[in-house]
Amino acid sequence: MTTRVSFPGDRQFAFSIFDDTDDATLEYIRPIYQLLDRLGFRTTKSVWPLPYQGPSDYQGSDTLDDPEYARYVRDLQDRGFEIGFHGARMESSERAQIEKAFEVYRQTLGRYPTAYAAHAQNRDNLYWGIERFRFRLWRWMYAALAGRRDPPAEGHRAGSPFYWGDLAERHLRYVRSFTFDDLNLWNITAAVPYRTAGTPGVRAFFPSSFADNVEEFIELLSPARQARLERERGLAIVGTHFGKGFVRDGAVHPGVVEVLTRLAQRPGWFPPVSTLLDHLADAQGGIALLAGYRLFRVEGLSFWHGWRARRRHRIYDRTQNPYLQRASERRVARNGRGAAGSAE
Ligand SMILES: [Zn+2]
Repeated sequence: MTTRVSFPGDRQFAFSIFDDTDDATLEYIRPIYQLLDRLGFRTTKSVWPLPYQGPSDYQGSDTLDDPEYARYVRDLQDRGFEIGFHGARMESSERAQIEKAFEVYRQTLGRYPTAYAAHAQNRDNLYWGIERFRFRLWRWMYAALAGRRDPPAEGHRAGSPFYWGDLAERHLRYVRSFTFDDLNLWNITAAVPYRTAGTPGVRAFFPSSFADNVEEFIELLSPARQARLERERGLAIVGTHFGKGFVRDGAVHPGVVEVLTRLAQRPGWFPPVSTLLDHLADAQGGIALLAGYRLFRVEGLSFWHGWRARRRHRIYDRTQNPYLQRASERRVARNGRGAAGSAE
């Protein structure tokens, strides 16, 4: 079950990031992508193709509707970063909007997205919330302990107004599934990427580590954890929000500069998420089927790690707030209407 995968250039380990676009604005994320670029990381930044005019916890975040931001995202792609899909919008979207989102993405970036991660509690999320679990025991535990108030995720459910499973299957290669509090994902499972039975619409899932904000990111990439990742010749894919506390007054948080600089000096491979997953899929002879006890264990570990992560949740300084405010004002000036207008 443990295939030793070798990485290009005989690098010792692999590391990538899937950046969920919550709270990201052009002005805010530019310094962090400059840093990643300079250090040689080519990671995955996600986008929302469509704007949302109604009230939302994520209001102010930039979308591909902003021409300047869209140009910047295109430029990141040209530099070798991958642009991922974080769903159509910051709030729930029905099928027609999701179709439109894919077209806006393609018009902006010249192709359809390859990798997707669900956002918050959007109704169009694919296999999200309780629907992530295949085993009844974990579904029951999740319902009892964690997901009681979750609205149902229905993106994969044919017949729902939020259904887009067929579009996902046509356009996407990789869908993020469970998240863990361990940098080396091979400590969770050797099957990355993997598929599961009974989940039509998804060609392959990938697990990831997760750091909600800057403080958790710095902790997840501590020197000790980096050393262990290298020693174990491991695989790291970190989900995070670069929009949450990473930049202050135009400069990247010094703790982030430090952990990323140290990491860049190690003999790792730092490609975008889909490039890394393509390589792993080739190395394991295709998309591995995760089933039976191995899947049961992964679901159980995610449950346990989710519990641990909640206890380790870190408060951070919301340095993005003035940026979100400025981005909102810019949008109002451009569109000649208020951000609090009616929802589309
Ligand atoms: Zn999100």
